[in-house]
Amino acid sequence: MSLTALGSSSAAGPPGPRRDPRPGSPVPAAAAMTAACLLLNATYEPLGVVSSRRAVVLVLAAKAEPVDVSDVLCHAELVALPVPVVVRLTRYVRVPYPAHVPLSRRAVFTRDGSTCVYCGAAATSIDHVWPRSRGGTHTWDNVVAACRRCNHTKADRSLAELGWSLPQPPRAPSGSAWRLLGHRAVDPRWRAWLGLPDVA
Ligand SMILES: [Zn+2]
Repeated sequence: MSLTALGSSSAAGPPGPRRDPRPGSPVPAAAAMTAACLLLNATYEPLGVVSSRRAVVLVLAAKAEPVDVSDVLCHAELVALPVPVVVRLTRYVRVPYPAHVPLSRRAVFTRDGSTCVYCGAAATSIDHVWPRSRGGTHTWDNVVAACRRCNHTKADRSLAELGWSLPQPPRAPSGSAWRLLGHRAVDPRWRAWLGLPDVA
């Protein structure tokens, strides 16, 4: 789909997009344009996630500049530009944030680096540290990412009964990035901008 069909009014090209060296080359994979892009404020503070399509429109309108891009080119009428993975608004906007990070499986996996807190294997499930069957709460301070084996072994026992320990007490994530991304999958290329450690 051409960007002109999306209502872009600046096919002549503000700074950023470059001329397409191969006019008539194929339109990029649709998947790249339906992917997500991290939106940063002018201050580089994470604001949220927009579709790649929306990010391209923002860049073409000079409302945002690409910070990190994929290797897929997006073709507009006269320009081609790499599909952005991270964009930064050219003007600062004030945005109110919700107070709490929603607790979700995905958010817990992101907090715990998608690894089991007990053994370091790839996490496949959520474990309630103090078992729910014994009154454990479904709250950030009682929920961790775990592998199937540890979850199965632990069953409804407490850490003290097993002699297991946690590397650190589980906590609710804080910060603007978390408030916005609590229930979204995080592209590895966004992690540095979100203050998250790299994952292997
Ligand atoms: Zn494990």
